[in-house]
Amino acid sequence: MKLGPELISGDAIQQRVRELAADISRDYASIPKPLILLPVLKGSVCFATDLSRSLTVPVNFDYVAVSSYGSGTESTGHVQLLKDLTMDVAGRDVLMVEDIIDTGLTTSFLFEHVRRHGPASLKLCVLLNKEERRVTPVPIAYKGFDIPNAFVVGYGLDYDELYRNLTAVHILEP
Ligand code: 5GP
Repeated sequence: MKLGPELISGDAIQQRVRELAADISRDYASIPKPLILLPVLKGSVCFATDLSRSLTVPVNFDYVAVSSYGSGTESTGHVQLLKDLTMDVAGRDVLMVEDIIDTGLTTSFLFEHVRRHGPASLKLCVLLNKEERRVTPVPIAYKGFDIPNAFVVGYGLDYDELYRNLTAVHILEP
């Protein structure tokens, strides 16, 4: 596998992140306690970090981790929680931050898991959406970009733990 063409430039990502942050800041302007940002490790770290720096509302961070593709490019459909919440989210407003939604299996699993902890609200913010591949519906409140059915890397997303540090999103080629 090798790095293919740029699909979304770093500038386009930064522009869209600022727009999403403005929407989120507006929607959560009057909540009583800081918004809990819940990035899903590890792929969402770049996105969640940049997003948080453009937010104008107070935030807390917590993180969850699930097993993903391992070193391949096809979903196994089997989701396993590797790192649980550390904050008490009961009665709090929680925004789960995802790098990419493909089949939707990971997100639905996590959504149900967090919901069981009784947050006041739970919404989803995702950078990249592969609608075509959806198996389970997921309620996306804030979306960066719709992308075609290709395996992508960069801006947090990896292939075998490589390419997470790229500023743009690229297609990975065989
Ligand atoms: P889903 O459960 O929606 O099928 O997959 C979600 C997870 O699969 C993502 O959080 C991500 O870890 C991984 N994934 C899905 N599509 C891609 C892709 O195009 N590139 C990379 N690097 N990971 C992907």
